[in-house]
Amino acid sequence: MSWDLKEALLHTSRQIQTARDQLSDLDAALGDGDHGMSMARSFAAVERELTATDSTDQADLLELVGNTVLNAVGGAMGPLFGSAFLSSAKALRSTAAEASSPERTAAAITAAAAAIQKRGKAEVGDKTMVDAIVPAAQAAATAAKEVGATSASVLRAAAEAAAAGAERTKDLVARIGRASRLGERTLGHQDPGATSITLALESLAAAAGAPVGQPILTLN
Ligand code: ADP
Ligand code: MG
Repeated sequence: MSWDLKEALLHTSRQIQTARDQLSDLDAALGDGDHGMSMARSFAAVERELTATDSTDQADLLELVGNTVLNAVGGAMGPLFGSAFLSSAKALRSTAAEASSPERTAAAITAAAAAIQKRGKAEVGDKTMVDAIVPAAQAAATAAKEVGATSASVLRAAAEAAAAGAERTKDLVARIGRASRLGERTLGHQDPGATSITLALESLAAAAGAPVGQPILTLN
């Protein structure tokens, strides 16, 4: 294994906490402005749990993140993000390929996308995190088949596709979740959940050693 998933998840947890205010600002335009707070609180708990565990098993670490996020907050975000991590843990356990292989990385992202869709019943185009994670999973599967693919190249492809998907949510009218109540007024605003997904994949890609992409948020 060329990079450390625990370190990558710790980095991701810190990046999400740093993005708290920007994520809440996005949610203030579309919902109730709590998304950054929910994410930051969840991932502060994730950071504590990861720091405390001795486990180095990748599936166990993802499961720990999933359970911590599920238990940390309510809102739409907890169950969606939590089940995404739990399903990616399950995918790692049931994929024969070796740890941190491109195939396994793609399988984990695909499982995360499927879990979010199963839980939330949103489709691509509804202006939710699905608009980031579904193209990310497709890009990951394609990237895993490329000659010379690595888990980092798969994560990089996923993060880029997620970023493009999050960007596209600006041109969508929200059809599901709290934001759907605002209808046409959601046009022009980027979906916070899609932004969080992108930030998470981008942080994982960077920690895995992939070249850094265009930032979805400016973090200071
Ligand atoms: P709440 O809407 O309960 O305040 P958050 O603010 O934490 O929860 O999260 C809002 C985000 O959740 C949205 O930006 C959207 O991406 C995502 N979301 C909401 N409902 C769904 C759903 N049914 N499926 C997928 N994502 C959803
Ligand atoms: Mg909200």
